[in-house]
Amino acid sequence: MSTIRFKALEEAQNRKPIKVNEDIKRSELFGKNVFNENTMRQYLTKDAYKGVMSAMDHGTKIDRKIADQVSSSMKEWALSKGVTHYTHWFQPLTGATAEKHDAFFETIGGGMAIEKFGGDQLVQQEPDASSFPNGGIRNTFEARGYTAWDPTSPAFIYRTTLCIPTIFVAYTGEALDYKTPLLRALTAVDDASTAVCKYFDKNVKKVTSNLGWEQEYFLIDKSLANSRPDIMLTGRTLLGHSPAKGQQLDDHYFGSIPTRALDYMRELEVECMLLGIPVKTRHNEVAPNQFELAPIYEEANLAVDHNSLLMDVMGRVASRHHFKVMLHEKPFAGVNGSGKHNNWSLSTDTGINLLAPGKTPMSNLQFLTFFINTIKAVHDNEELLRAAVASANNDHRLGANEAPPAIISVFIGEQLTGVLEELEGVTNGKLSPEEKTDLKLNVVGKIPDLLMDNTDRNRTSPFAFTGNKFEFRAVGSFANCANPMTVLNTIVAKQLKDFKIEVDALIEKNDLKKDEAVFNILREYIKASKNILFEGNGYGEAWEIEAKRRGLSNNKTTPEALKARVSKKSIALFEEMGVMSKIETEARYEIEVEEYTKRIQIESRVLGDIAGNHVVPTAIKYQNMLIKNVTGLKDIFGKDFEKHASEQIRLIKLISEHIVAIHSNVDAMIEARKKVNAIEDAEKLAAAYCNDVKPFFEEIRYHCDKLEIMIDDELWPLTKYRELLFTR
Ligand code: ADP
Ligand code: MG
Repeated sequence: MSTIRFKALEEAQNRKPIKVNEDIKRSELFGKNVFNENTMRQYLTKDAYKGVMSAMDHGTKIDRKIADQVSSSMKEWALSKGVTHYTHWFQPLTGATAEKHDAFFETIGGGMAIEKFGGDQLVQQEPDASSFPNGGIRNTFEARGYTAWDPTSPAFIYRTTLCIPTIFVAYTGEALDYKTPLLRALTAVDDASTAVCKYFDKNVKKVTSNLGWEQEYFLIDKSLANSRPDIMLTGRTLLGHSPAKGQQLDDHYFGSIPTRALDYMRELEVECMLLGIPVKTRHNEVAPNQFELAPIYEEANLAVDHNSLLMDVMGRVASRHHFKVMLHEKPFAGVNGSGKHNNWSLSTDTGINLLAPGKTPMSNLQFLTFFINTIKAVHDNEELLRAAVASANNDHRLGANEAPPAIISVFIGEQLTGVLEELEGVTNGKLSPEEKTDLKLNVVGKIPDLLMDNTDRNRTSPFAFTGNKFEFRAVGSFANCANPMTVLNTIVAKQLKDFKIEVDALIEKNDLKKDEAVFNILREYIKASKNILFEGNGYGEAWEIEAKRRGLSNNKTTPEALKARVSKKSIALFEEMGVMSKIETEARYEIEVEEYTKRIQIESRVLGDIAGNHVVPTAIKYQNMLIKNVTGLKDIFGKDFEKHASEQIRLIKLISEHIVAIHSNVDAMIEARKKVNAIEDAEKLAAAYCNDVKPFFEEIRYHCDKLEIMIDDELWPLTKYRELLFTR
């Protein structure tokens, strides 16, 4: 009998809920461990406070003197909360967060010591980060990397460490992290949007990009998860037969949250409150043991930091509750995978959401301007946007049998489709007074009423307008949102920049009024980007055929999809918008391609091991039991035995067939690996892993899963889907 599986099950079933102390109001906990505006006001001198605020709002530099004051106040605040260490907290290109803790403690001779944290330590550090991926940047330049304080994301205390959000760059200036290009993209979209806003309101000085992510995840008992080598090593199950009951009854979605999970969530939320992560929503998701957590949206850079931090905190809190959080995009075949919808909008320092229809025709024209420019940006860069969410894990969602598809399209709803159709009919050049009135009253003026009934939500769309924001749904649950947010904000920035140039040119050349010019350009954009609009079912084959006809890309695998990242057009785009140099873009591509290869390679090895060390020996054991049984029957019934043993004999044969199939496929997969490993070019290697190695996974799994339902449950060594998914 498999002791590991049964011990794990026993442990899981005997768990007691872990009570969470929750007698303090959430609002009182909120931001308690954050060096936020409120804390800064208490701890900083007036000058220091002004300096940091100006750096936050306008990106001004913080001088040495101010940095010293800030660091000393931060230290004082942190010490008052029992903190002993500090760290520069950053997001290298591994996708995880990185930290190296240093104690405040310093000796000063004479056997004495003090707590020290100066401006130097706050502003810049040089972590020994030679093992982080850099895509050849640091080898090429023989440059070291350093971390530098990002004052736009406030420092926070996690457990006994003061964490300072930082960027991570090479001494030659190239970004080695996710945050640096994101900050540059946010500046680009701010500049371009603010310039366009001036057509409508001269008072706008700054435009902020907002992000509200929705984190999906699975929560599995720790002992059960640990009993599966595939979950331990790859984050997902590489085999396992579907349970008799899955998600077909839809009884988990929005159902009552199981007690143990709820205790976990409550503790997680308390931690989030302390860290200033404004989590608000929690609910069950579609698959059993799948859940979602969403905060109130925030400025994009802060939201990205908060999501990265959250993913880390989730794991730690889960561990205390004897759970494993599975952030993988597709941990279980046959039930829904996990995504991370990125809700995105732009808002002005005058308090206007540029993606929400307004109350007047003028504000609606502004809305339409940003709305249509976003659509045009997605249209012109659909392949790049697809590339921004490509990963080995996410391939199991995009382009597999799950929403959204690998084809990027935009859903806007029936009403706005109608508005765009009307705008498309606007006269070329000057508008007659009647036409202007009609446009203002009947088209642009009507939007808010119309949107009220725009409740139609297309769940299969990868990029959907949902009333006052766009929702980028193709992002994976495990992804760092910085990557998709960098791309989205960059393409919109570029689009708005071009729009401004075109409108200005039209005003000058044809002596048009501003609104006329705006209408004229928007009309052209609607025509040019119509192909990206799609309201239908994104799952079906019909859409694949239609999308192909429209010339939209359908890059189903990561190696295919990633190529758009390094197209001439993308490299030029990132350079023009000041987001990434050619070297930086290429380095990222290389890292992502290599990561893909490594993941498939690891999965391939793990699958081979499990098939050979767990599945086949168990099958043989069971087959031997059957053989013994057949021999026994022969002893009893003699010649007549076959009548009594026919089913056993059939099983014995079947088991042999599956064992042979597993062995031959595993051997062939290993051969394929050996062969492709000789490929030196990283791009070709990734493609080879995708096309020559990965196809064996399904084959091997098929036979293993068949054996699982054939073999005595008592013997089966691997925790089954029903146990992983339905243990509460
Ligand atoms: P859903 O019904 O898709 O779950 P919600 O309205 O609950 O949508 O919002 C999901 C996320 O979108 C939340 O994080 C929410 O704060 C965020 N969100 C709401 N409005 C905006 C906006 N204007 N810009 C960006 N994110 C937003
Ligand atoms: Mg949503």
